[in-house]
Formats: sequence, structure tokens, C-alpha cells
Amino acid sequence: MLSATENHIRQAPIAVLMRVLVDQDNVLADFDGRLIARWAEVYPDRPPLARNHKDFYMHKSYPAYSAEIKALAEEQGFFWSLEPLDGALEALLEMSEEHDVWICTAPLSAYRNCVREKYEWVEAHLGLDWTKRIIMTKDKTTIAGDVLIDDRPSIRGRYIPLWSYLQFDRPYNRHTNWPRMTWATWREALAAINKKPLSQA
Ligand SMILES: [Mg+2]
Repeated sequence: MLSATENHIRQAPIAVLMRVLVDQDNVLADFDGRLIARWAEVYPDRPPLARNHKDFYMHKSYPAYSAEIKALAEEQGFFWSLEPLDGALEALLEMSEEHDVWICTAPLSAYRNCVREKYEWVEAHLGLDWTKRIIMTKDKTTIAGDVLIDDRPSIRGRYIPLWSYLQFDRPYNRHTNWPRMTWATWREALAAINKKPLSQA
């Protein structure tokens, strides 16, 4: 006879359960907002950085200040101090009631502060259990999933991705044709992904 847990698993509505990979920077955590604020603190006499920058990378959008901008994101405490984006944490928790949700994030190449602080940020804002759902990789095409939610204009890597790409709407990615979403529209956007879940493959 099945235990109550086994019975529950076998009867779970698996057809709607997707493995969803969610990016951290500028999707859950306001990387740009903190960078803009820190820039204004450290360089009050220089032109301000803007949210509607053109390149995905802030430091490439301001080539004259590239080294200084990169250095600010590498400072101890930078990743720890990011604010959650509006509605992001609430949406993530709601999504995880229906789907198998993982935080899939690429660390800076200068990883020393970033890696630890990304974990600390997730623990502080979502709880320790969520740190067990962090996947850190420089190449998200190596990770299996049904959907990747990310703000990067295009995701390149070693493999043809198994996931469908759902773009998180940001000023610097509006030239692309990917299906897109915000934390106000994630339900409709996920529902529109017409993909057979990996669990059904
Ligand atoms: Mg990102």
C-alpha cells in the first residue's frame, strides 16, 4: 500500500509542473539600482549612470568608466546590499507552489565576494532552504530546465539549450523577439510557454 506521501506524489498534477530556472541579477535582485546608487556615492562629480542603459553590461554602456564601474560591483558587500526587485520574491514563492523553481545565476569572473554574497542574499531574503536551490554557472546552456527566465538579450553557451527562453523585461533587452515577462505578468507568460515538461519527456 502506498504511503500518504507516495500517493500524493503519484497523484500530483505533473502536467503543469515545469522546472523553471530564474536568474538572480536584475531579475530577483536590483543589481542596476545598487550600482547606480553606489556610483553616485563614490563619483558624485561624474555624470550619473542611468537605468535605461543600452548594453546589457552597465560597464559597456559607459566605456569611459568601464574599469571603475566593474570595480564597484566587485566591492565587498555589493551583492549583499542589493534590494529585491518589486514583486520578485512574492512571485518566486507563488511560482514555487506550482512549479519546480531554481535560482540559476552566473557569478562574476571576479567571484570572491560575489559567490558568497549571492548565497547570503538568498538566505536573507528567501530563507536557508532556498540556498539549496541555487545553481551557479557561467554557462546556463549546461543546465536542464523547461524555462529560463533571464534578462540577458541572448543566452549563449556550449550546448543547444533544453529550456525555452522567457525574457525578463529590461530597457537594454527590448530589441529582442523573445517572449517576455515582468513580475506582474509571469503567470500568463509561463502559461503561454507551449513546451512539454522535461518530467514528461
Ligand atoms: Mg541577470
